[in-house]
Amino acid sequence: MKKNIKRIGVLTSGGDCSGMNAVIRSVVRSGIYSGFEVYGIYHGYQGLLGGKIKKMSCRSVGNIINRGGTILKTARSQQFETPEGRTHAMDTLREKMIDALIVIGGDGSLIGAHLLYKEHHIPVIGIPATIDNDLHGTDFSIGTDTAVNVALEAIDKIRDTAISMERIFVIEVMGRDIGYIALQVALAAGAEEVLVPEIDYDVESMVLDIKKGRKKGKISWVIVVAEGATSAAEIAKQIIDMTGFDTRITVLGYLQRGGSPTAMDRILAASFGKAAIDALANGDIDKMVAISADKIKLIDLDYACSQKNELNMSHYKLIKILAT
Ligand code: ATP
Repeated sequence: MKKNIKRIGVLTSGGDCSGMNAVIRSVVRSGIYSGFEVYGIYHGYQGLLGGKIKKMSCRSVGNIINRGGTILKTARSQQFETPEGRTHAMDTLREKMIDALIVIGGDGSLIGAHLLYKEHHIPVIGIPATIDNDLHGTDFSIGTDTAVNVALEAIDKIRDTAISMERIFVIEVMGRDIGYIALQVALAAGAEEVLVPEIDYDVESMVLDIKKGRKKGKISWVIVVAEGATSAAEIAKQIIDMTGFDTRITVLGYLQRGGSPTAMDRILAASFGKAAIDALANGDIDKMVAISADKIKLIDLDYACSQKNELNMSHYKLIKILAT
């Protein structure tokens, strides 16, 4: 049923990622263009439990398209995970006369949005924004492309020293449950090995390959490890114990979340923000905006959050083939 929506709230939630600001800009400007009032909710769901809520104007989102992070700030909120917390959040939305909510975040944030709709019937639309690219039904989430490119730039630099010093480098990237960043960056960087949480690894066979490579004159290796598979320190220790070869580690850590968004993330942000506003204008609710085969789509929020994305096995195999 199409509800009469005048005021739309927008928030960013969970881990920040590059491109969130570009989405906020698109939501605010597309929303105003379509005749809505748009309210920025600061500090994610925690902000709905007594935080700052501010009416946004086209000017309030000026000069943010190229900035990492989120001007609305983000947070994690345990209170919002309880039904009582969500009732409290809904009370704030009623008090501020906000008729619909756009949530920008990862799977946890979008599950929260779905529950808010289920329990309180407020129209919600989710925009996938997470470096892990783990939301089902969308080929890309905001922030993924930038995170991969930031990691790639770092690994390219590390490769320079790996070659010059004839060393093995084990580089740890983000990805607690999902090896997406590790896999993409390993393929793009021409890494020799990639370890991801989805696939069991065998250090002994990896060491055997390194020894064989050394005999053939290979002088340096780049091994990419997703943090959820194991730690770079652990792999480096095992390589040193088994080979004695000079092996160093780099943990890229939080730098993967920051930086200026890539063109791809900015363009996706522009499209997703507008699509979220159009969805609300058309009476669509409880949906996530998505891109699939280059087309913007709407998919059910609970479907997007309930499935796990599968690792691209052809990329995994290609890394091995091209590393020989
Ligand atoms: P990232 O991909 O960066 O981890 P995320 O959105 O998955 O982002 P979470 O920490 O999982 O990050 O979730 C952000 C917030 O969403 C939580 O702090 C909580 O307030 C809300 N949330 C997460 N899971 C649930 C849930 N099952 N029920 C209700 N709310 C939830």
